[in-house]
Amino acid sequence: MGQKASRYLVVSEAAYTDGGGQPVRLVLNTRTSRVSTVDDAVARTLGRETLPAAIAEQLSDPSILVPSDRDELTDVLDEQRARARSLASLNYVLVPAGFCNMGCEYCGQVHVRGKSTANHRDAVRDRVLRGINRPSTEEVRIGWFGNEPLLSYAIVRELAAQFVEAADAGGVRYTSTLSTGGSLLTLRRLRALYEECRIHTLRITIDPQRPYHRILSTLSELASDEFPLLRLMIHSDLADVDQGDAFLDAAVAAGLNRPMFEFDLREAPAWRRGEQRFAAAEPRWLRRMHEVGLVTGNLIPAQLTGPLCPAVTRTAEVISSSGGIFSCTEHPLVSTHEQDDVLELVEQADHDRQRPAGRYDDWHDRVNRGEQKCSGCVFLPVCGGSCPKRWGEGTSACPSYTHNIQQRLDLVAARSGLVPCS
Ligand code: SF4
Ligand code: SF4
Repeated sequence: MGQKASRYLVVSEAAYTDGGGQPVRLVLNTRTSRVSTVDDAVARTLGRETLPAAIAEQLSDPSILVPSDRDELTDVLDEQRARARSLASLNYVLVPAGFCNMGCEYCGQVHVRGKSTANHRDAVRDRVLRGINRPSTEEVRIGWFGNEPLLSYAIVRELAAQFVEAADAGGVRYTSTLSTGGSLLTLRRLRALYEECRIHTLRITIDPQRPYHRILSTLSELASDEFPLLRLMIHSDLADVDQGDAFLDAAVAAGLNRPMFEFDLREAPAWRRGEQRFAAAEPRWLRRMHEVGLVTGNLIPAQLTGPLCPAVTRTAEVISSSGGIFSCTEHPLVSTHEQDDVLELVEQADHDRQRPAGRYDDWHDRVNRGEQKCSGCVFLPVCGGSCPKRWGEGTSACPSYTHNIQQRLDLVAARSGLVPCS
């Protein structure tokens, strides 16, 4: 059986040298997320239909080559489908609060003051506990999300303590995240969230259109050796290029260049039509972040380790403070989706059954049928299609790295001590 180059390779357009004079190229294998250095002459052969057997000996990443008859699209979709269908890992995204104190311009959620009923809380508790206690469950992930969960801090504490206790009793792995605007975080609350609620990842969304220096300095004060497993992931939706530079300056000034903080700059929805401009500026920010010690996890897209998102797996669901169970995190508390996309009501649901199918649970089959351009995309193994909802609305969901992967490879080369061949 002959061998061919995997269809999931991105070869650097630039050739580099390590100073020894031998030109090389970088090859990103999107099935493994590995970037390897390949002799320039060998890299040029990777586009050919069949390859000489001797080439395999020159590759540090053997999975760059695959058997000639391999149908890799089927392999990739089978892997992604299997992760989406696994019953071992459950994911509950819980929206405990109907209100938010921030009111960011780009947020599509409605804010309604008032607490959820006790019946609602009991139903959420029963449903999650039933899932944790299912014999097939090996792992449960709880995400506190939507509006401002810390406005329902007491509910988060009460429910999380019971979920943690049930998971520990059943030998089920428990991980939890909380998404917040950050303004209501205090050391006392963080301590309870970390220790009692076992929330070890906080996703802090900062709107760069509003004053944010105070939140950055609060975050800086919270960074402590007391929380060795804590990750603070800071997302900022930028509306123009200048906001990126200013935000990075402020983050460094606040002393957030420490390993527990991870930064993710994104384009705000209103700026998405300008995605090329965002993608053009992004490599500069990535280089700067590296130079000043700001951590970012996304220089090279990482492997998907679980399902793409809650919307493609029925072992994941979003339970809204409004009472509805949804499949997509952008459905709860958005008027049109609250009307059209509720799958069932948590107070009436059968907790021994998975949620009903939502709009995007057949995502992998759609890609397989070629209905999405993702089926022919070199990034499919790491991207998975990014966001079925956006594609469904007729908007491209491609991540920025599709526009600037070559500059990212240049940054990887520079960090490895490679210099571009002149
Ligand atoms: S479809 Fe998009 S918005 Fe909905 S859960 Fe998936 S990634 Fe999130
Ligand atoms: S969303 Fe874009 S980058 Fe991701 S797989 Fe689909 S076409 Fe490729």
